[in-house]
Amino acid sequence: MGPFTLMVVTAHPDDEALGLGGTLARYGAEGCEVYVVTATRGEAGQIFEPDAATPVTLPDVREQELRRACQTYGVHPPIFLDYPDGLLPLVHQGQAVGKLVRLIRRLRPHVVVTFGPDGVYGHFDHIAVHWWTVAAVDLAADPEWFSDGSDDECRPHRVDKLYYRVVAEDQLAVMAQNGRPAAVTRDGVPFRFFGWKRETITTVIDVSGYVETKLQGIRCHLTQIGRQSPFFTAPEMVVQAPWFRQENFVLARSTVGWPEGVEDDLLAGLRD
Ligand SMILES: [Zn+2]
Repeated sequence: MGPFTLMVVTAHPDDEALGLGGTLARYGAEGCEVYVVTATRGEAGQIFEPDAATPVTLPDVREQELRRACQTYGVHPPIFLDYPDGLLPLVHQGQAVGKLVRLIRRLRPHVVVTFGPDGVYGHFDHIAVHWWTVAAVDLAADPEWFSDGSDDECRPHRVDKLYYRVVAEDQLAVMAQNGRPAAVTRDGVPFRFFGWKRETITTVIDVSGYVETKLQGIRCHLTQIGRQSPFFTAPEMVVQAPWFRQENFVLARSTVGWPEGVEDDLLAGLRD
């Protein structure tokens, strides 16, 4: 079997970087076909470096940032669904699911990765993408849905494994600042990260061998992190940090059984 195809579905350019960058680099290096699908161009994001973008240029700049990041990881150029940043729960949900069903049938991934129902920190765009992807994975296999009968690219396809990318509770402890829980400020208030208990995490990918690539991928998203972030000011410290060196996943659907212990490979059960 192989080469294997992996498809990652996110909401914003940069969603892949911290939680998935090492995993993308690993499977890219293994020769897998790896695709990053992003619902928006991130035009509602902040601009941490005023010389990098203006509110007008931000969507184009962020598209280019993700293109460079994907090149860095060694995966295919990103695919954009062209939805407005910050409004994903309000767009036509059936159309969004339909777009993903068609992509799944065209790319025919063995493995799909998206957000969990927590949306990492409750971000409603992330949560919308979670539900679209779960629905699309199920419907892509069902010939009753989104098939016009004539198009070969619309042949049903069953994804073998669906994963949620998650943050582990113990990783959050490290991210706490000044005794305050790790959070992202939205509309002026902090939304806490959701930490998954270790016993609920099915899959841990050791990305120690890819930390430099992961760091370079994160740095591609300059508008979102800024030159004052530790990714620029203290890179040696970042790449040595245990939280940076492992990426955590929860297996949500599988046609190849369930792991006994903790898996260390998204393709476990699929390889010969
Ligand atoms: Zn995001």
